[in-house]
Parts: sequence; C-alpha cells; structure tokens
Amino acid sequence: MAQLSAKSGRTIRTIVQWCFLLWVIGIGIRFGMFVNAAESGASVPVVSRPPGVEGFLPIGALTSLKYWLVSGKIHPIHPASLVIFLTVLLMSLLAKKSFCSWLCPVGTLSEGAHKLGRLLFGRNFSIWPWLDVVLRGVKYLLLLLFVKLILLDMPADTLSGFLDAPYWAVSDVKMLHFFTSMSITTVTVLAILTFLSLLYKNFWCRYLCPYGALLGLASIISPFKIRRDTSGCTGCRRCTAACPSGLAVHSSTAVSSPECTGCLTCVVHCPEHNILAMQPFFWKRPLPVLVFPAVVVLIFMVGIGVGMFSGHWHSSLSYADYQRLIPLEPYLSH
Ligand code: SF4
Ligand code: SF4
Repeated sequence: MAQLSAKSGRTIRTIVQWCFLLWVIGIGIRFGMFVNAAESGASVPVVSRPPGVEGFLPIGALTSLKYWLVSGKIHPIHPASLVIFLTVLLMSLLAKKSFCSWLCPVGTLSEGAHKLGRLLFGRNFSIWPWLDVVLRGVKYLLLLLFVKLILLDMPADTLSGFLDAPYWAVSDVKMLHFFTSMSITTVTVLAILTFLSLLYKNFWCRYLCPYGALLGLASIISPFKIRRDTSGCTGCRRCTAACPSGLAVHSSTAVSSPECTGCLTCVVHCPEHNILAMQPFFWKRPLPVLVFPAVVVLIFMVGIGVGMFSGHWHSSLSYADYQRLIPLEPYLSH
C-alpha cells in the first residue's frame, strides 16, 4: 500500500465511520417511526420496517446460525440478523477486525469518547499491564459463555422454540425500548462505561465486547495484515506508540494479533515510505491507499446484497403481526 499521509489516512476512515454511524442512526429513527405507528394504531405505517435494525441482535443471530447449521434453513423471522452476522464474520476472516474500526457504531463512539477524554484530561490513561491482560480476557470469557450456552448446549428443539416464540419476534422492539426507555440501572451502567471510555482507549471494545472477541479470533487467519519491511524500518517505534490496541508493531514482521482492528493508525504514523502497510500475503507491490477501505466496504455491501437477493433480508412478520405483538412486549421474557 502506498504510504498514507497522516491526513488522508485519518480522513478516509473518519468519513467511512461517520457515514456508517449516520446510516445506523437513520435505521434507528426509521424503526422508531415504524414501531410508533404500530403502537398508535395507525392502519398503515409511515415508513416500512428497516431490516438493518437486526444488526443489533447478535445473540439471536448466533441462535439463528446454529438453527441454520442443524436444519439447513434460515429462520424467516429475523433473517437479516444472520446475514449481517455472517457478513461481519466474513469481513474479519478476510480483512482483519476491520468491522470494529471502520464500521461498528459502538467503535466509532468509543473512539470519539477517548479523543474527547484526551481533550478534557490532556491525555488518555493506561491500565497496569498485568490488569490489562486480565481484563482483555473478559471478552473471551463472555464469548465462551455464549458459544457454550447457544452453539454447544442448546438442543435443536429449544432452538426452534426460541426462534418461533413471540419473544424473538419482538426482540427488535425490545432493543429499541432498551434505548428509548432506559432504566436507572441501564443509565448507570452506560454512564460508567462512557466515563471509562473517556479515560481509556476503546474500553468497551478492548475488554468487554464478546462480538469483537469473536471477530478478533476469526481475523487471525485474514490474508490482510499489517506488514513491516524490516530492511527499511529505522526502529523509531512511532507505529507502536500510536497503536490504539497497544501492539508492538515495530518488532513484528506481520501483525497477527486478534487485537489488531486494521485501523491503519500505525501506517499513518510511520515516517518511512512504504515500510509499513496493510497488505495481503500474496501481494508484494504497494497498493493504492483506497484499496483496504474499499475491500472493507465491498465485503459489507456484497454480504448484504447476497442476503437481499437470496430473499433472506426482510422479516416474515407483517405490520399486522407487529401491531398484535407490540402490546405484549413488556410481558414477554425468555
Ligand atoms: S497494529 Fe496498526 S492497524 Fe492494527 S490496531 Fe494497531 S494501529 Fe491499528
Ligand atoms: S514507525 Fe515505521 S520506521 Fe518506525 S518502527 Fe514503525 S515501521 Fe519502523
């Protein structure tokens, strides 16, 4: 990859991140209008339900994944949840944990928080190295818990029982209400996480997100990796100092760590020309600056496109189903 200037490298990622965040906010607003119409008894919704809202149902997506694996069928209630899940997984298998640093709205907000923290406190803080290692393990433990409970332990009949139940049907509405009618506990937890995100870089992503843990493990085999040309590297360590994941880039020939999000910050900060680059192992010549971002966005669009054109995008639930189920939502629990 041709050397990124600090300005262009940052600008490209910021544009992609904020476009995606705005798109997700648009989906949230549109889904809110749809639910509001159903709640108010309108005979037709002002807007149709955006299937992209199912991206906020990763646990259900994991259940759908197992259902798909054991039955060979994609469950029709919230098929987009599985399509998005598989797309993001594929993105990690091919292009590092790029979802986290290029597309994930939580990652974007988390990054904004630590930049704001730097403005407020003059710097970001570091956790003791031993505690950092321990805390990084928490997200893998959470992942293990979900994998055990859902992928390993959940019997086939329980799977369809969960996916056919009204609880799963209105899980998107439950998620909306989680944000629009927050309990004191939710507000307190979010406030604590926000405060910690101001102090420490990517606190949620680095320590707690089981989704990121899964994507990180998948990303180990990604052909794209940060690669360092040892012959021209001066050992200045600017890459390592800049890496938000705290990786020792200056001493790696290829960064395979599951913590690498493909953010390219190290590339941006390397003062040498074409010494540090995000390259697939099979490509030896410099790639144009836009290639990696284009690969990330393309994988996402192709994945969603395949879901749409194969008929696994829109929910089988009708507006009338939502009108019938939404009043029951507060009383539904799994
Ligand atoms: S190694 Fe480079 S691309 Fe990976 S997380 Fe660190 S700065 Fe970002
Ligand atoms: S910033 Fe570039 S030159 Fe400096 S140690 Fe890292 S790879 Fe080598």
